[in-house]
Amino acid sequence: TDAHLKAIEDARVLNAFVLETPDQARAMARDADARIARGEGGPLAGIPLGIKDLFATKDVRTTACSKILGNFVPPYESTVTSQLWRDGAVMLGKLNNDEFAMGSSNETSCFGAVVNPWRRDGSDKQLVPGGSSGGSASAVAALLCMGATATDTGGSIRQPAAFTATVGIKPTYGRCSRWGIVAFASSLDQAGPIARSTRDAAILMRSMAGHDPKDTTSVNREVPDYEAAIGKSVKGMKIGIPKEYRLDGMPGEIEKLWSDGANWLKAAGAELVEVSLPHTKYALPAYYIVAPAEASSNLARYDGVRYGLRVPGRSIGEMYENTRARGFGAEVRRRVMIGTYVLSAGYYDAYYLRAQKVRTLIKKDFEDCFAKGVHAILTPATPSAAFGIGEKGADPVEMYLNDIFTVTVNMAGLPGIAVPAGKDAQGLPLGLQLIGRPFDEETLFSLGEVIE
Ligand code: GLN
Repeated sequence: TDAHLKAIEDARVLNAFVLETPDQARAMARDADARIARGEGGPLAGIPLGIKDLFATKDVRTTACSKILGNFVPPYESTVTSQLWRDGAVMLGKLNNDEFAMGSSNETSCFGAVVNPWRRDGSDKQLVPGGSSGGSASAVAALLCMGATATDTGGSIRQPAAFTATVGIKPTYGRCSRWGIVAFASSLDQAGPIARSTRDAAILMRSMAGHDPKDTTSVNREVPDYEAAIGKSVKGMKIGIPKEYRLDGMPGEIEKLWSDGANWLKAAGAELVEVSLPHTKYALPAYYIVAPAEASSNLARYDGVRYGLRVPGRSIGEMYENTRARGFGAEVRRRVMIGTYVLSAGYYDAYYLRAQKVRTLIKKDFEDCFAKGVHAILTPATPSAAFGIGEKGADPVEMYLNDIFTVTVNMAGLPGIAVPAGKDAQGLPLGLQLIGRPFDEETLFSLGEVIE
């Protein structure tokens, strides 16, 4: 814990942590030592972790990296983090993220951009770590913590993992409790770990997962020993390669990475089959209707009355307006406006309802594929390697295109893992994604470890 606290101090230029909690960390570490001495250490005894600032931490400031939450200090702990502490983990501090987890570059945070510890060969240019869990990915990649919590609504665990050569898994919807996690789009949000290796991710996930009566969408199923899946044979497994993910103009190095990954799995005894997910091309536009719709509803609670920031006005209406104008950043305001629009009486059928129908078709594509005996699907994690800070700020749609390979998984509620698989011509990490059957994270860990 001391070594990690020192590393965090020395790496403040990365802006990965928005709050360091050294006193608490040392107290938790001492407590872990005492538990170990009593033979009650727990599976994560003394393991220092970073916590994405979307997770409510009791008596520790939680902001979702939005000004509107101000200095909000929750009087409760999220279920996922409380399970980590139950198992002996140590909290080093709170990690930066895109405001309310809306973004793909960690540039929308009210605390400013996070820096990726990776650089292009021979260049000093600062790159984004991806988003929204950019602080988590950057901190794990720079060895500031042994693992981190993260959340994924459309790719926010897997894309930053791919940009930083770390491992990130978005579990099946319902596998982890969402209780005490700041909500973005409730039907898509899931918590998961970002870690240094597939094995570490498996260990962390076992502690994070599990049924929680406080979240009615969390599923009452036993949590398997995910670590046991590491090193398990993948012989005879059928791996689908979806032809619709082969995009026009896809960079050659992404194509190559993808076929390398397929070859490694084949060498390990898996069977590769071409599959079709015909509604893939509608996933991104449908996601950018469903996610903002749910966000606009979830964010209605930030009205200047219940949490954090309040900017006064002459009437209550003006107070709402002033608070929201000052408290929400540009991307969040854009989402609230899109969401309110697609849910409004005249447009609901044309946009929101239609997007929900598309979502059902996307889910069915995967079901059909798995019904043919496919165990998992292999795709690139991102369409490119990490890009420069400020490079994609101007056009929101260009930013949204980053999520092209990841959003389908959230729309279908499936588990997806991103594992480091190679580098581009400039030495930047690239990741591959494996998509699994519902609640079959174990297969993803087994396959992920073969690629890693
Ligand atoms: N980049 C996507 C978005 O901005 C996904 C973010 C996330 O998964 N939280 O909505």
